[in-house]
Amino acid sequence: MVECSKFMVNNSEVIKYSCHQLMHPWTESCLRAFIDMTWACGKGTVIYYTPFFIIFSIQILMRGKKLGKKEMLEQFKLYLKSGIFGLTVGSSFVTLNCIFRKLFFSEFSYYNTVLLPCTVSGLAVFCEPPYRRVMVLNLFVNLVFEYWVRTLEMKGWLRRSPGKETLVFMLGSALFFYLMRLDRDNTKRTPLFWFFTPPRVSKEVGEPMTGIHGRSPACPHKEPCINYVLKGTLQLFGVGCAMTMLRTLIPKILTPVKAFKSLKMSHMKLGLFFGGYIGIYRLVVCLLCRAHGKDSAMYAIPAGFLSGLAFRASPSLPISLAPVTSSLQILGSWGYQKGMIPENWPLVEILYCLCQGLLFHARVMHEDVCPRYIINLMHTVTSSKADEIQSAFIKKMIKYASG
Ligand SMILES: [Zn+2]
Ligand SMILES: [Zn+2]
Repeated sequence: MVECSKFMVNNSEVIKYSCHQLMHPWTESCLRAFIDMTWACGKGTVIYYTPFFIIFSIQILMRGKKLGKKEMLEQFKLYLKSGIFGLTVGSSFVTLNCIFRKLFFSEFSYYNTVLLPCTVSGLAVFCEPPYRRVMVLNLFVNLVFEYWVRTLEMKGWLRRSPGKETLVFMLGSALFFYLMRLDRDNTKRTPLFWFFTPPRVSKEVGEPMTGIHGRSPACPHKEPCINYVLKGTLQLFGVGCAMTMLRTLIPKILTPVKAFKSLKMSHMKLGLFFGGYIGIYRLVVCLLCRAHGKDSAMYAIPAGFLSGLAFRASPSLPISLAPVTSSLQILGSWGYQKGMIPENWPLVEILYCLCQGLLFHARVMHEDVCPRYIINLMHTVTSSKADEIQSAFIKKMIKYASG
């Protein structure tokens, strides 16, 4: 893998290449390139979004709702919108380069080759409904943080370790759960995607109590505390294990015996994380409610911090940063609600464009530190056309650097 510095790109012969030489080496025609890219991305988009469509439909069925014609049509419309979004972003990259180069720039450069067109094509996020834009932005901001951490690490300014990642996750969880509990009383709640949503702060009060039986009147749940804690733990443990099992079994579905033999104890790690995370959180909140006889949003701070310990079972950089990103999302939506950010500012969309430009730029220029998710996303959506263009670009750079 090659790291393309600004100096390397801007001082190479490559910048003098035509769009055909650099961006669509398989054809001289810009129109042909556009058609080819759209075709490739059309296939890729269907492959990428269909599983989501199926998962959302199953989710509706599992919630016990009827999946009638109307709901299916609604789901299909959302699917189509997301599809158009993916298709536009994927297929416009090459063509925007052709257009920009013909109209504005006589040469390619480190910034205008990927960063600029991919920032512009981010505008396609307007195809998505507003609440989904927020979710997609959350994901992309988190990926930018991941990219920055990886960059700092490569420059030798930072050393990652599972212990440090766990600490970041613990601190982030403390803040995030506290903000989530405050946000529960909001009429306009922020759409968040997290393992579980903490219950709203209970208004009831009662006497402090000892022992482990029953529940305190202040507890934010109905059943006895032990049931409440264990139920959550087992449920999420199950979800974590099921997710890992599916990921392990599906690729080996044609050889079921071998597939089951390949299951190991280590596949329970995700279950331990999920189960432990909710279990410790609920346990700490219950203990505090019982000891004080009343509930408070503040309990989420020690509870969130300690529950983050479970992350040690299955650490990963993107997840360790996720609570911080989601906390920023809550703060941002409060900023909108309190009028600190004017309502008509398209802040979400602009931020999305910037994140997308930066991440796709990282995919081409700084492959080593680019988040895995982005590499896979571009690979799938463009039916590996992005990889072809990138590797052809890198090859030309290497040829220049060595010659
Ligand atoms: Zn062209
Ligand atoms: Zn309780």
